[in-house]
Amino acid sequence: MRNIYGRSLELGVIICKHCGEIIDTVDTENVVTYYSQCDHSQCKEKEQLPVGIPPEKAVSL
Ligand SMILES: [Zn+2]
Repeated sequence: MRNIYGRSLELGVIICKHCGEIIDTVDTENVVTYYSQCDHSQCKEKEQLPVGIPPEKAVSL
């Protein structure tokens, strides 16, 4: 069990960049947000697609 008022305060949080779910927390000195990917199948499918560039435009270039 984690006590938010104790020394075990964890300011860093790892969030799924696809669905926004909190995956894990990490012990950091400052508030830091890391973006990663959770184990949801829908998020894993998104991870396989190129980010920022639609596939059709990437081909036309
Ligand atoms: Zn997710």
